[in-house]
Amino acid sequence: MTVKFKNCIILATGENGEFQVLKNCVLCVKDKLIEYIGDEASCPACDEVKDMRGALLMPGLVNAHGHGPMTLLRGVGGGLALQEWLETAIFPIEEKLTPEDVEIGERWAVAEMLAGGTTCVSEMYDFPAYTGRAMTETGIRGNISRVGLSFSDDAEIPAGRFDECVKLVKEWNDPDDRVRAEFCLHSEYLTKESFVRRIAEANRELKKTVNIHVSETKKEHVECKERHNGLTPIQYLNECGILDESTYCAHCVWVEDDDIEIMKEKKATAVYNPSSNCKLASGFAPIDKLRDKGVNTAIGTDGVASNNNLNMFEELHLASLLIKNCERDATKATAEEILKMATINGARAMGRSDTGELKVGKKADIIAVSMDKPHMFPAFSIPDILVYSAQASDVIMTMVDGRILYENGEFKTIDIEKTRADMQSCIVRLYS
Ligand SMILES: [Zn+2]
Repeated sequence: MTVKFKNCIILATGENGEFQVLKNCVLCVKDKLIEYIGDEASCPACDEVKDMRGALLMPGLVNAHGHGPMTLLRGVGGGLALQEWLETAIFPIEEKLTPEDVEIGERWAVAEMLAGGTTCVSEMYDFPAYTGRAMTETGIRGNISRVGLSFSDDAEIPAGRFDECVKLVKEWNDPDDRVRAEFCLHSEYLTKESFVRRIAEANRELKKTVNIHVSETKKEHVECKERHNGLTPIQYLNECGILDESTYCAHCVWVEDDDIEIMKEKKATAVYNPSSNCKLASGFAPIDKLRDKGVNTAIGTDGVASNNNLNMFEELHLASLLIKNCERDATKATAEEILKMATINGARAMGRSDTGELKVGKKADIIAVSMDKPHMFPAFSIPDILVYSAQASDVIMTMVDGRILYENGEFKTIDIEKTRADMQSCIVRLYS
């Protein structure tokens, strides 16, 4: 099956990795891949032609840190400080969640993400097989994991957790490799050293990626140093070998200069979560410094309990404004850099170098953004208008693996009214 997109602006990637804004060109998709970008006259014949009427085609957004099923807890405990928020608002509801709830919550999350232009997501949550099933059925791309937790070095608590982490990685099977299982450690503070070392060993053997929360709060960062002879979370994880293979670290708000050096050397990624960090008043991650030192940086929404949405366009906007103001320098965090964080850099972090840019041979993970609304005209700079003006609601089409999953308000793979009703039943039970 081949599809040609015509009459559109294309935010493509050139040979040197720089963005190219192409006008009067077409983009052709063959099966799951981008087959052609260029003049219409030289385009191969296509089964279907889509007239985009001036819309912009860009790579789908990569949400490099999420907890999708938390749609069932959207905004719960708003206004509370982190510890009280977790203990009084979040954990009591999470304790009641069933695998079926998680699947429904993830399906609702995917609907929100597809409608807002996200094509690839990193999910960290309980019952990953159910999250994974919702992802497989809806067609989004992403990584899932069994959350690594360990509360004792003497006995395995929770029992069997290490085997569950490995089992998911070994046995999860998606022939399309669209939904992939990886390793996960919740954090330094919710895992013991022997467990961390075993996960590091397993990942060295199986060559997957590791997803982990790092230095989100000052408290967690300081207490780690007290627990581990002055080692920061990054230094401790490095000693345990967890950074030896591809690791991506959410938050990184309190990382220190030495941590940044280690992250660069070990090719670890820092995932920025601007809304969540601001809402929970965790602080400002030194993203500009990380970038300057050559650390890969990506962007995530975190869960909607602390955001309260999965709107990556909002994260782009906020990320740029915060980085500029942390540095008191308007030349920092250019729109191009921010777009890369939210596309190719996130894909790289998740071990998916075959997506995240519009280039021949890459996966056809493409979104179309309408340029029709007043706030999208005039568009003197395409990267700037995407980062500072565009809204998630400007997305009019979302394609993953060459398949259109969302178009002009219609979900092709999700029964949205049924899912809303399912969500409502879950909520009545969970909050009664
Ligand atoms: Zn998180």
